[in-house]
Amino acid sequence: MLKRTLQMSLSLCIALIFFTGTALAAYQNGIPVLLYHHIERVPGEDPELGVSPAAFDAQLAKLKAAGFTTISLDDFYAYMRHLPVKLPEKPLLITFDDGYEDNYTEAAPLLQKYGFQAVLFMVGVNVDRPDRLSAAQIRDMNKQGWNIAAHTMTHPDLTRLDKNSLAWELGGSKRTIERLTRQTAGFLAYPGGFYDLPVYQATQAAGYQGAFTVLTGLNNPDRDNLYLLRRIPIFKSTDFDTILTRLIANQSKASLFDYSEELPKEQQK
Ligand SMILES: [Zn+2]
Repeated sequence: MLKRTLQMSLSLCIALIFFTGTALAAYQNGIPVLLYHHIERVPGEDPELGVSPAAFDAQLAKLKAAGFTTISLDDFYAYMRHLPVKLPEKPLLITFDDGYEDNYTEAAPLLQKYGFQAVLFMVGVNVDRPDRLSAAQIRDMNKQGWNIAAHTMTHPDLTRLDKNSLAWELGGSKRTIERLTRQTAGFLAYPGGFYDLPVYQATQAAGYQGAFTVLTGLNNPDRDNLYLLRRIPIFKSTDFDTILTRLIANQSKASLFDYSEELPKEQQK
């Protein structure tokens, strides 16, 4: 049902796409953040969460050909705070949620092939679990240029937790990542994209600089909140070429991307 609604809204949106034809920097209307989960050869338990290595390779090739350059979370943060930062002409963040082992075995080599970096949002208790990333793999990814960020300790719906559990999920995962990488874990991704005012406030209180949702669209400092950052999920059935056309157009209206905001609260993992 989620998929159908997305596709319906996507086709509605296609009609609205236009090219601005401006010579200004391509990020004038915001920076896109792509969201992946699995890069897997054989479809897993939830096949929709996976993109095959061949499809991922093709998507990266198209992004490269279109002139996109991946940036670090630090540069993204600077842009969102209007701090001085030198950005490439078409900046992009590529993110992975949950910490599946295929992020290391399949995604990382393909990203390297195109000179791209990425961000991993790791679930704290999943470090070293079967089929999930090991501490050694995470450190190696970090050395390859990946930013390692937090995705809570156990991947709960944060809006359902009491104050103490919320603080543990947020603070515990931040500390776990920081112990692993010996770097500040300044960013969080809300599991399932779920947040409410207490979650928003607890995320700030836990010391995060920002947090990512699954609200779609481009991130623009004049319009978007650092604790409600937007991402564009790429699922197995996603029409990547349509997304790419929109990224190239870099249209100013976030609402053109916002097909998720009208949806009922539904688990998207
Ligand atoms: Zn997740």
